[in-house]
Amino acid sequence: MHSIPEYSCKNGDIVPFADATVHILSPTVHYGTGVFEGIRGYWNDDDKQLYIFRLDDHLERLEQSQRLMRFERVIKKNIIKKNILDLIKKNDHRETIHIRPSVYLEGHGGIGSIGPVGYGITTISRPSSDLVTKGCTAQISSWLRTPENVMPMRVKAFANYNNSRYAQLQANTDGYDTAIILNADGTVSEGPGQCIFIIKDNVLITPDIGSNILESITRQTVLDLSLSLAIPYKERKILRSELYTADEVFFCGSGWEITPIISIDGYQFEIGDVTKKIQNLYFDSVYGKNDLYEYWRTSVY
Ligand code: PMP
Repeated sequence: MHSIPEYSCKNGDIVPFADATVHILSPTVHYGTGVFEGIRGYWNDDDKQLYIFRLDDHLERLEQSQRLMRFERVIKKNIIKKNILDLIKKNDHRETIHIRPSVYLEGHGGIGSIGPVGYGITTISRPSSDLVTKGCTAQISSWLRTPENVMPMRVKAFANYNNSRYAQLQANTDGYDTAIILNADGTVSEGPGQCIFIIKDNVLITPDIGSNILESITRQTVLDLSLSLAIPYKERKILRSELYTADEVFFCGSGWEITPIISIDGYQFEIGDVTKKIQNLYFDSVYGKNDLYEYWRTSVY
């Protein structure tokens, strides 16, 4: 699926891609004791520049995830940042890429391990999905979102993604592109790897932080962009029936970017003006085609 680059980074060293491995007896393999980030770098051919989008914000969230997981040492933002920049240059990426730093437990310990802490980074080519243009179909999953008092979804931990995976596979089996996951009280949480917005009467509405979502950087970006576009927004609980009766619906995330939803459980939606406005401003901002949000971009070259 992905073209494999020549190099990865493992514990600070740049190594051949195939050598960035962990042992099968590590707690990471058995218990999912790792945390990660998914970050995009956007190639602007006019500027001959690769812009990494909101790198510091992602790496701060990675520090927060490590703290919450009680790792014996936290791999700090500036260390990973330097490694990411070095790795991209070494792979000589001149294309839009996905950057994935992970911090995890190595060694042979049990479920209570807090070390040794290892980390790795991969960078791979990743253009936008065609769903960004044509829109996607979604199914309300019968799997519910893991609640905060079972496992906090604020942590971007490997193990959390098994909940998402059940929902994603159910959706795919039933012929949908992706899923929308509800909380135990029936309110809307998010997609398997993306947050959700609805638009009703020109107001943007997204589930609040208490809806068992990842505190998504793209979600915050959409809220910030909506201020420039003078579109009012609300962060609050969303009911399932509000999804079906919305004027427009879209997903957002570093991977999903701004992806319109064209149907939920067979209820159809147009790709509307508000979604298009946000999409245009988003892509201009990430590709460095406006100066408004220059502070969100880290230049590699
Ligand atoms: N929710 C989940 C469960 C995710 O995995 C992601 C992707 N990181 C998102 C939301 C979107 O987060 P972000 O905008 O920070 O990429």
